[in-house]
Amino acid sequence: MRRFLLATLPLLAAAVLAPAQTMSIEEFEPKSTLRGPAHKPTRAKFPFIDVHNHQRDVSPAKLTQLIKDMDSLNMGLLINSPVSRGHGKWVADAVTAMKGHAPGRFAVMTNLDESNLEDPNYPARAAAQLEADIQAGAIGLKIWKHFGMTLSDSQGRIKVDDPRFDPVWAVCAKHKIPVLIHTADPWGLFQPMDKHNERWLELKLQVRRNQSQQTAFTWEELIEEQHRLFAKHPQTTFINAHLGWLGHDLGRLGELLDRLPNVYAEIGAVTSELGRQPRAAHRFFVKYQDRILFGKDAYNVSEYHVYFRLLETEDEHFDPIRKYHGIWKLYGLALPDDVLKKLYYKNALRIFPGLPADGFPQ
Ligand SMILES: [Zn+2]
Repeated sequence: MRRFLLATLPLLAAAVLAPAQTMSIEEFEPKSTLRGPAHKPTRAKFPFIDVHNHQRDVSPAKLTQLIKDMDSLNMGLLINSPVSRGHGKWVADAVTAMKGHAPGRFAVMTNLDESNLEDPNYPARAAAQLEADIQAGAIGLKIWKHFGMTLSDSQGRIKVDDPRFDPVWAVCAKHKIPVLIHTADPWGLFQPMDKHNERWLELKLQVRRNQSQQTAFTWEELIEEQHRLFAKHPQTTFINAHLGWLGHDLGRLGELLDRLPNVYAEIGAVTSELGRQPRAAHRFFVKYQDRILFGKDAYNVSEYHVYFRLLETEDEHFDPIRKYHGIWKLYGLALPDDVLKKLYYKNALRIFPGLPADGFPQ
């Protein structure tokens, strides 16, 4: 009996240790032992304009709550772009609701009319709809990532630089309405899901984002199409959302900005890319201080706090917003005040037509 017990002890010990030894990477949440300065700003140092924001609900109750959130964050102005291809009535209703509720705190963008894309009259019709939306108060055009990825006609995928949309870009140029454009997704989502892929966890948790298994085109093709679009329309202002998914290659993004003065970049959803290279990112923001805008995209009040900490402080080794954007910590960029002001509001006030400038310091 005693011999039996002794023989089984190691097995029992193994059973006790098993959970920690077999836990998955999602469960691994080590608490940092690093002690050092930790600033957790819940309010931006200067009032800011969020140029990339989606609010479906524009009811008075929701807008009252939004204004409360905005005041707590020091968000002076929220630029709302439609979801689900909103244009026409959506724009008119949103302008009436938002501007009526709080003049000076909201602005509205529009989406493309994408009906009957093969109609020979489509280009003229889409351009006319955009003109009407601008008359109704839209100050920008938001292009979603389906453009280039899933948008298709009987010939198949429609490329980002498809010429049928040229009249639309021309309307944007004519009215100096910027185009906030999201093309493709992070590079890693287009690569095989293997042990070397930095986005492995995202691919595991968000199965539908696995582009390498569902698309016949590459990340590089999409990015090249987008850059050709920018070059073909030098009079149209493009704001490349999510740093054009070049946050991991700021050298290439810098070359794009050097080559094409009509292109700007927006920083939504790329805090992990910036926070892992604080020195290079700091240099980038200083060098391209007139070309970068603040945008958040997914609306979540506490996540803005991480943006402020990243942009404003020198804090080191702090938690990212989402672990699946990269399994590493963030380091603050400590941007100088004059650069922060441009990023937070000066560039947006310059690029978007007719934004109310009251409340934003000189
Ligand atoms: Zn968006």
